[in-house]
Amino acid sequence: MKKLTSLIALFFLLLNCGELVPNPDENPENITRANPNGASEKVNDFAIVIHGGAGTILKKNMTDEKEAEYKAKLEEAISVGYSILKEGGSSLDAVEKTINILEDSPLFNAGKGAVFTNAETNELDASIMDGKTLNAGASAGTKIVKNPINLARAIMDNSPHVMMAGEGAETFAKEQNLELVAPEYFYTENRMNTLKRVKQKELEKTTDNKSAFYDAEIKDSKFGTVGCVALDKNGNLAAGTSTGGMTNKRYGRVGDVPIIGAGNYANNATCAVSGTGWGEFFIRATVAHDISALMEYKGLSLEAAAKEVIQKKVPALGGNGGVIAIDKNGNIVMDFNTAGMYRASMNDKGELTIGIYSK
Ligand code: ASP
Repeated sequence: MKKLTSLIALFFLLLNCGELVPNPDENPENITRANPNGASEKVNDFAIVIHGGAGTILKKNMTDEKEAEYKAKLEEAISVGYSILKEGGSSLDAVEKTINILEDSPLFNAGKGAVFTNAETNELDASIMDGKTLNAGASAGTKIVKNPINLARAIMDNSPHVMMAGEGAETFAKEQNLELVAPEYFYTENRMNTLKRVKQKELEKTTDNKSAFYDAEIKDSKFGTVGCVALDKNGNLAAGTSTGGMTNKRYGRVGDVPIIGAGNYANNATCAVSGTGWGEFFIRATVAHDISALMEYKGLSLEAAAKEVIQKKVPALGGNGGVIAIDKNGNIVMDFNTAGMYRASMNDKGELTIGIYSK
């Protein structure tokens, strides 16, 4: 009898021991949400991705020299951020300094080379976000701040606000000793010619239909925003975006770029995203945050989340454009629904990829 009791006790003990051993599938910490391509594994200790705008970028309209010029500038910019990350610097610094190079180049629609408004002014938007703290800074419609991404960073770091616009933002830039320039600094002949062409097209229109205002040809000449996302060695994500907006914009129009969650978003729990495209649609589709939310709430991989938003949601509304994104494990995505997107990425091994036209 004694033996039988001991056996029963041993049986229950073993049963309990079984329960004490944590089942990895039941431990929330270990639950790997849907990640069809092993997206939960760290693929890069650090990495950086940039874009120089999406749109109707066709090989047939590009000379070899122009193409080489774009590629060289993309490489120069991404190398700056890569070095910062490699030396253990923060993703925020990498994003800001990389974007500075693109802003200073007349090739892109940000900083020098920004597109013109209908009133022949340049009004610049930018934003930056820290994935670790979810702090963010954004500036809209500035005309004299040389590098709007620096202003966005200063707003995030040195003010209690997230977004500042127009003259107020410029006053803050002065207080922060940021570099100011005469509005003419942003002038480029190329962008002025584009504005003239677009205005001419608009004049030729006989309809007052609002959607016709943005017909395909006019629309395509408007893009060229720049953006950067990065993951640093400490696992911190950051995203930044800077733009002149869309050619011929009016009435103090502000696009998606300075709107956190639309053209820019970063969250260490998910990913960092920078967008480029038709801003009105990126605002309405909350593009950047939607990608993060699909990962956070639905467990999608970065690739699947970006695809859902860029290939389905945005086109279904009638918009177009693309995103660059990186997740907390260093997975990189560069997705767009336009003919091309200037883009480049560098992983922790220093491998560089540069692209212009569709995949
Ligand atoms: N998204 C920008 C805007 O609408 C334009 C662009 O990305 O080229 O202001």
